[in-house]
Amino acid sequence: MVFVRTVRSLAEARFKDISVEDLNYLESTLVRDVIPNLNPKARRLLNLASLALNVASIPSTLKPFSTLSIGDRRRWLERVNAESNLYNIIALLDVIVLATHMTNPRISSRIGYRREEAVGGVRVEPEPALSRSGKPRGAYDVIVVGSGAGGSVIAWELSRRGFKVALFEAGPEPSRDELVKLHPSLRALKYFWDSGLTFTWGNPVIHLPFGRVLGGTVTVNSGTMFRAPGRALNLWYKATGVNVDSGALERAYEIMERMLGVKQVPEHLLGGNAIVMRRGLRL
Ligand SMILES: Cc1cc2nc3c(=O)[nH]c(=O)nc-3n(C[C@H](O)[C@H](O)[C@H](O)COP(=O)(O)OP(=O)(O)OC[C@H]3O[C@@H](n4cnc5c(N)ncnc54)[C@H](O)[C@@H]3O)c2cc1C
Repeated sequence: MVFVRTVRSLAEARFKDISVEDLNYLESTLVRDVIPNLNPKARRLLNLASLALNVASIPSTLKPFSTLSIGDRRRWLERVNAESNLYNIIALLDVIVLATHMTNPRISSRIGYRREEAVGGVRVEPEPALSRSGKPRGAYDVIVVGSGAGGSVIAWELSRRGFKVALFEAGPEPSRDELVKLHPSLRALKYFWDSGLTFTWGNPVIHLPFGRVLGGTVTVNSGTMFRAPGRALNLWYKATGVNVDSGALERAYEIMERMLGVKQVPEHLLGGNAIVMRRGLRL
């Protein structure tokens, strides 16, 4: 399949020290876990991008990209104009290369991400008993579309004030166990719109994924909870004239933090990037 061949040859060109063993891991993960979880639109897009990359190298090298020697592949990639559409096409395939490569425990442990250790210690709380009726019946006071950070809070606030609320969500409802155990790269394929392959339109193209799952993007985001600092509220006030009642905001934060169980990340769960960031802050 052209997609698998292209991703493998791109990975080989991108990572100077990649071993055959790691390339085989990448290829088998693509076939076993990535491709079956791609939605049809994303699959078409990636096949087209792979074809485009292979055709693009022909005018200057007389060969499709994936049949070039590693050295020629690297030299050809260096010559691709960063302002061109081809560069964006390669960036799209790079997303797949990186996301798939990072599922390899040998690779992720090099940056201090020891997934098995981190996930092994997580205790999955029992699911709360909520009524999920499938199809809404009868009359509702309010219909909320989307169960993300915005929709879920509105639905909760309205229902606790006595309104009859129906909450519609386009995405599936995964179990908590699945959310914890599934590798983040593979989680993106299942629980993001268009398998996570959504981008801003322009040059450069910017990768902008968003969740399609019960709980919205919050279910699949980085899980960082940060109170907006006073100086940000002041800047927004100056820019927009909107005056946020900081006392009410603090109370809302307290409620949300309690409901979501917000806590400081324990030392053993800190990844390599967080440790480097902390070291930088202390300098
Ligand atoms: C990769 C990533 C990481 C992030 N990390 C953080 C973080 O660590 N901390 C932080 O504070 N913020 C983070 N964010 C931002 C944060 O997740 C979003 O700002 C927030 O989720 C937006 O909430 P929302 O309700 O507007 O939209 P969403 O949370 O995206 O929810 C929208 C919901 O509506 C559903 N929907 C859409 N259309 C329909 C339809 N027609 N019918 C039914 N359902 C529909 C979608 O499926 C989705 O579930 C991150 C965002 C991304 C993309």
